[in-house]
Amino acid sequence: MRWWVNFILSIVLIVLIIPTLIIKGFSSDKAESESAAFGDDERGDDISITRQVRVPDVAMYDHTTKKLVRLALEDYVVGAVAAEMPASFELEALKAQAVAARTLAMKKMRAFGGRGCDKHPQADVCSMFNHCQAWISEQQMKNNWKDRYQANYEKIKKAVEETQGYIITYRDEPIEVFYHSTSNGKTADVSEVFSVSLPYYAVVNSPGEEDSPRYRQTFTFSNDEFVRIFKKSYPSSNLSVSNLASQIKIKSYTESGRVREVVVGGITVKGTEFRLLYGLNSTDFKFRFEKNKVKIDTVGFGHGVGMSQVGANHMAKQGYTYVDILKHYYKGIEVKKYR
Ligand SMILES: [Zn+2]
Repeated sequence: MRWWVNFILSIVLIVLIIPTLIIKGFSSDKAESESAAFGDDERGDDISITRQVRVPDVAMYDHTTKKLVRLALEDYVVGAVAAEMPASFELEALKAQAVAARTLAMKKMRAFGGRGCDKHPQADVCSMFNHCQAWISEQQMKNNWKDRYQANYEKIKKAVEETQGYIITYRDEPIEVFYHSTSNGKTADVSEVFSVSLPYYAVVNSPGEEDSPRYRQTFTFSNDEFVRIFKKSYPSSNLSVSNLASQIKIKSYTESGRVREVVVGGITVKGTEFRLLYGLNSTDFKFRFEKNKVKIDTVGFGHGVGMSQVGANHMAKQGYTYVDILKHYYKGIEVKKYR
């Protein structure tokens, strides 16, 4: 063989084969370390709490300061629970919220193979409630709670500490977490709202929410306003102010009784899109047509998928634990300690 043939073969070996081996080596290491990360010790028979583990920090984009900050995971969870659930809720509900918030963050963290926040490239999560997950600083807690600050902070801290490291898993992987404020008495399946199907989501009953302030709410629009809002997004619609009632019809409902599709001025719109368009509390809505006015009555607050926070609080008042609450709203899951 000529020397240059050997030379070219050596180059090919260096350029193509060696990096392939290195990359393969890294990715299989990562897969092993990930699968080893979730132990078998379900809540209740945990005997390895004293083991010291360095959990990577969370890189969070803070919408208030417009800065990227790094936080210890458990400190991040305190701020997320404080922002996402009223501190007046029962301790077990706050614990369920802490586990859900921790799971959401870990699922997104790049250190655990997550994709991070897709709006802020450097961040694992952002602090926007309708994007990743709401989060507030201790200063914001002080501003919000004033003389209740110390008591509220200690209660939330306790909920986080008593669930330290625990996350929701399905087949040993952290789940894709969705939760919401108030249901309409039933939760929505994830496929009703998002274009995904996940085995741990289903329609489940969520009783005891009727007294919540956001359970029923009415949104009122003048006929002109209603038409203007619709035509802004659907300019080709033939919707007109006169005889509005005859031009609006709910076409179909989801399994959980929320609006799947509504026809407005000849155009079929998804319930989820209609909700966003008119800033409604939920997709469980009905129309009332009055002289020059459209009234839209909603039941529940939020998308309806996964744990209802108000429902969780009701369960906690009935004596259920945070694990009971999570297992009610997420099917076939385990609550396991990350270590
Ligand atoms: Zn985000």
